[in-house]
Amino acid sequence: MNRDNLIEKLKMISVKDKSLKDLYEEISMCCMDEIKSQWNKKSGRNAYYLSVEFLMGRMFFNNLLELGVLSEAKKIFAEKGFDLNRFEEIEDAALGNGGLGRLAACFLDSAAGLGYPLYGYGIRYRYGLFRQSFENGSQREEADDWLKWGDPWSVRKDAEKRIVHFADMDVAAIPYDMPILGKRINTLRLFQAEGSKEAEKISEYLYPADDTEEGKLLRIRQEYFFSAAAVGELIDRFVKFNGTNFEKFPEENVLQLNDTHAVFSVAEFLRILTGKYKLSFGKAVEIARETFNYTNHTILPEALECWDAELVAKILPDIAVILKRLQVFACREWQGRGCSKEERIAMSVLKDGRFAMANVAVFIAKRINGVAEIHSKIIKERLFSVAYKYYRNKFMNVTNGVTQRRWLMLCNEELSALYDRNLGKGWREDMEMITRLCFNHAGNIAEFIGVKKAKKAQLAEYIAKREKIQLLPNAIYIAQVKRLHEYKRQLMTAFAILRIYYQLKEGKHPEFTPMVFIFGAKAASGYRRAKAIIKYINEIAKLVNSDQDVKNKLQVVFVQNYDVSYAEKIVSGSDVSLQVSTAGFEASGTGNMKLMMNGAVTVGTMDGANIEIAERAGLQNNYIFGATVEQLAKLENNYVPLEYIRDYPEMKKVTDTLIDGTFSDDGTGEFNELHTALFQGASWHAPDHYFVLYDLESFVQALFAVNKDYCDAESFAHKQLVNALNSVFFSSDRAIISYAKNVWKIDK
Ligand SMILES: *Cc1c(COP(=O)(O)O)cnc(C)c1O
Repeated sequence: MNRDNLIEKLKMISVKDKSLKDLYEEISMCCMDEIKSQWNKKSGRNAYYLSVEFLMGRMFFNNLLELGVLSEAKKIFAEKGFDLNRFEEIEDAALGNGGLGRLAACFLDSAAGLGYPLYGYGIRYRYGLFRQSFENGSQREEADDWLKWGDPWSVRKDAEKRIVHFADMDVAAIPYDMPILGKRINTLRLFQAEGSKEAEKISEYLYPADDTEEGKLLRIRQEYFFSAAAVGELIDRFVKFNGTNFEKFPEENVLQLNDTHAVFSVAEFLRILTGKYKLSFGKAVEIARETFNYTNHTILPEALECWDAELVAKILPDIAVILKRLQVFACREWQGRGCSKEERIAMSVLKDGRFAMANVAVFIAKRINGVAEIHSKIIKERLFSVAYKYYRNKFMNVTNGVTQRRWLMLCNEELSALYDRNLGKGWREDMEMITRLCFNHAGNIAEFIGVKKAKKAQLAEYIAKREKIQLLPNAIYIAQVKRLHEYKRQLMTAFAILRIYYQLKEGKHPEFTPMVFIFGAKAASGYRRAKAIIKYINEIAKLVNSDQDVKNKLQVVFVQNYDVSYAEKIVSGSDVSLQVSTAGFEASGTGNMKLMMNGAVTVGTMDGANIEIAERAGLQNNYIFGATVEQLAKLENNYVPLEYIRDYPEMKKVTDTLIDGTFSDDGTGEFNELHTALFQGASWHAPDHYFVLYDLESFVQALFAVNKDYCDAESFAHKQLVNALNSVFFSSDRAIISYAKNVWKIDK
């Protein structure tokens, strides 16, 4: 990359009389010209990451950082009288729901950063995840019209369009290539559906939830659309250069299925090999088994995709036939290996008239991984226990990670500068170096306290601008930012806040250090309880923030439209990270890692990657509470919330606020429904099935422990810095190296 050249070109750009959008496009295009001359062409063995979501966030600042011109560009434009940070108004392309999509983005970033050939395939949604605002405390949704800012970081490739066939229509898949910058320039290829009004619908909207089934037919079309386009392209390319000796296909191509959303690619692969190229079914399966790998992201039963076989047959008859043949083929293999009938049913591809996509993935994948130690263990022991018995060697673990380029260097220049000063710049290439920082040195702690203070002030300023609320300046900033879900237990945090609130009103804690609770979360459009929880927290915020008795002591803010760019501000400006999911439910979490990397301590349960975080940064430097997976398993039928809270009258007072008129749900009855779910349950679940009340008391105690420890500013900052320094393991560079060596077998 010719950096000097680029800087000269940037200097030539005039800012006069240009709209924000025009200037944004001009600067971006100028960078793209430089990038295009260096863009790596595919060759040799490559890995492909198939994901229905890529939550990239804003590309502008990240790309300028990667090009090595970010600080220079800020200076150049400041001299012209233009503040480059104004591009923060450019909205994110939110082509993902949450953790799963963001992981895909982090992986692409790390692979490019390290120099591994990893290419992404996905869908170019016209509208991403909805934009959220609050109206009277309730969620409002608006289409995410991200293209109104243009799309200067992508290149449309009409010449490489593909046709995807459905029984009722042909759809053109037009590739848009986005460069992923680093040591190599890799590509994220997103397909846009074109051809007719019906066709366009396929890439119109991001599927609005990653954990429920909705709009089934359209969803099947979406999944097949990008899977087929990707696989078709890879096979054509292989044939062009290698002919039809498909045994060699896995030597050049390895595909990673990011959850089950891309599993149709397996069926498409078998269809093409057995159809067009006349391979035997057995041979095609054998090759597929050398080609595909599968990452499981959740054990929530509602998220394990099962598609009605007749529905699939209606629009994809050949694919339905292939999957049925696969079932027959698999059964023969299982019989040969002496599986019992129950075992065969458990592993079946076709079950009760439905295709179990996870079972397809498990049968075909060479490697199957969970995303944190505990999650991979649960997969083996519970979710896929039968498959584990017969295909032990397939199963492994790759704990998730986050890219330190976006989640440290970009969002926390101040902490990065601290590392630069004390270690030189080498850590930016080799993050391991930061563990060498002699953090017992009082100077480092003082410096770190300064950094944290500055980041908190920046966060407060940002929130003041966006939400029109002034955060308390000398408070502990406590963040719970993640999608809204019952298992993530934002409701438990709401109850904990009320517990603290009532105690403060009674004058119980004269030494209390002020606490600010910061929430950020979108609730899936159809998820009523999640929306009720947002409303409830906003009602609590209204009560607490306006009560003179707790003024300057307690504050609650729920920010609107939490997205990657908002996350960058919050993870770097918080003291405490709330990761309080019911043990066994959060596969890994990555928000926990971002906050850790920026020096927040974790208040969390023994769940997902929290366990590994506490292991690495030390239990004494984090606040682990609540029931473990084993404890909850023992509890099963002996947990009766109504009886349980009899021992905790304070808890009753808090849960009563859902039904005693303390708060208004605008007559919707949704608060009452939350109360019912806790104490009576529902047709599909036991009372309080996420053990909110069971863990509440120990959660509140953990928060008070934080409050007490925070009084000793130095020792608390020490805990925080130990967390930041031990976050190296949670860099997605480590995860990518593990995939490259153990799964993909690709070289830099
Ligand atoms: C990292 C991230 C997530 C995932 O957060 P978890 O706490 O791991 O669920 C979700 N949304 C956004 C915008 C993120 O940046």
